[in-house]
Amino acid sequence: MKGYSAFSLIRNALQGHRHWQPLWRNPEPKRSYDVVIIGAGGHGLATAYYLASKHGIRNVAVLEKGYLGGGNSGRNTQVTRSNYFWPQSAAFFDHSLKLYEGLGLDLNFNIMFSQRGVLTVAHSQHEIEMMRRWTNALQINRVDSELLTPAEIRQIEPLINLHSRFPVVGGYIQRRAGISRHDAVVWGFARAASALGVDIIQQCEVTGLDITDGAVTGVQTNRGDIDAGKVCIAVAGNTSMLAAMAGFRVPIVSMALQAMVSEPVKPCLNTMLGSTTIHMYVSQSDRGEIVLGGGADAYPSYAQRGGIPIVEENVAAVLELLPAFSSLRLMRQWAGINDITPDTTPIMGSTPVRNLYISGGWGTGGYKAIPAGGDTMAYTIANDEPHALIRDFGLDRFERGALIDEGAASGVAH
Ligand SMILES: Cc1cc2nc3c(=O)[nH]c(=O)nc-3n(C[C@H](O)[C@H](O)[C@H](O)COP(=O)(O)OP(=O)(O)OC[C@H]3O[C@@H](n4cnc5c(N)ncnc54)[C@H](O)[C@@H]3O)c2cc1C
Repeated sequence: MKGYSAFSLIRNALQGHRHWQPLWRNPEPKRSYDVVIIGAGGHGLATAYYLASKHGIRNVAVLEKGYLGGGNSGRNTQVTRSNYFWPQSAAFFDHSLKLYEGLGLDLNFNIMFSQRGVLTVAHSQHEIEMMRRWTNALQINRVDSELLTPAEIRQIEPLINLHSRFPVVGGYIQRRAGISRHDAVVWGFARAASALGVDIIQQCEVTGLDITDGAVTGVQTNRGDIDAGKVCIAVAGNTSMLAAMAGFRVPIVSMALQAMVSEPVKPCLNTMLGSTTIHMYVSQSDRGEIVLGGGADAYPSYAQRGGIPIVEENVAAVLELLPAFSSLRLMRQWAGINDITPDTTPIMGSTPVRNLYISGGWGTGGYKAIPAGGDTMAYTIANDEPHALIRDFGLDRFERGALIDEGAASGVAH
């Protein structure tokens, strides 16, 4: 793989950009692999990359039914933060944020990570009390978090309306958090994994699993059968279907989550600004578009469109806090299917089938987890024991009642 540098940029520019290498190879599937990963989203690709780079396991295939990054990893609103409430979540997501901080250098790919801060506002004394509790918990867990007064919020976001129907009485910010470029994260992992020998095979849908004596031995695909020593399911909104192929059930509800962007405007928003009460969050992309997100649809569905009432609700919610945006035109709207668990914590680790692993249930917040998800799943697959950071995220927690209720604890969707 030819490295990227300022020098290579100048050289290629002088040569009319005719000699750039493709980012990844496009191989035919082999008959057998040590590890097959189903799903070329961020999690599948990161797992493959860390298997190859940290554990020397390079005979790996990532099978993708569509195109890589075409799932939720290329559809999300890119919020990258680690201010989760419970110690297990805080440790895992902060590991991810730290990996994000060095990811551009590690992958030699500009992931455009912008640590502009994630600012959440409160609209009642009760809410500010919850934020105080939350901030204290974060600081105990060594995750940065600061409470803010309305005047401090106004200084950070001059466009905010503090006196709408939902008056802003305070808020809190994680300054190390921000947004990064989701396509670049996926492409960077794909390029680095491919260079280490991982086969990324697109247009290759897994239609069944071969299971003998309780252990997985391969996968059936629309491009033929492939033997595998180990298999990892990393398919975001399709986890229940893959689990059904393996003969077990997962406690997951699949729902559409939407996002939308406005026409581009000059820089006017400084943070990723959100409100859990009004249920909106908004940031400005490097191209100048205002990126809007909100809650999931109210009903389960596999239709990757999302319902129209949610668009109206999201826009109305954003205008409560940022009325200046009322003259903006929306350019695009889209949705992805999110697998939501009862405690909104992911399901990671082994399954009832030997040598079959799962990285799923990422719900509305798995983008920020991609580096740590890949790192810890690669460890888990290579050593056949859960990485310490994900020991509590196993499927068996639902049998034991050991839930990690992040939805109730932190109350945020992204
Ligand atoms: C609108 C929206 C906004 C979001 N915002 C945020 C955010 O701001 N921050 C955040 O942290 N998270 C966010 N998320 C969630 C985040 O995008 C996901 O949790 C994350 O991308 C999941 O990554 P993944 O690799 O597991 O799945 P994906 O990227 O969906 O990849 C799974 C892949 O598996 C493939 N696949 C499925 N079935 C098969 C099969 N049978 N055979 C082969 N391949 C198959 C799919 O085609 C897909 O490409 C958001 C999600 C959405 C939809």
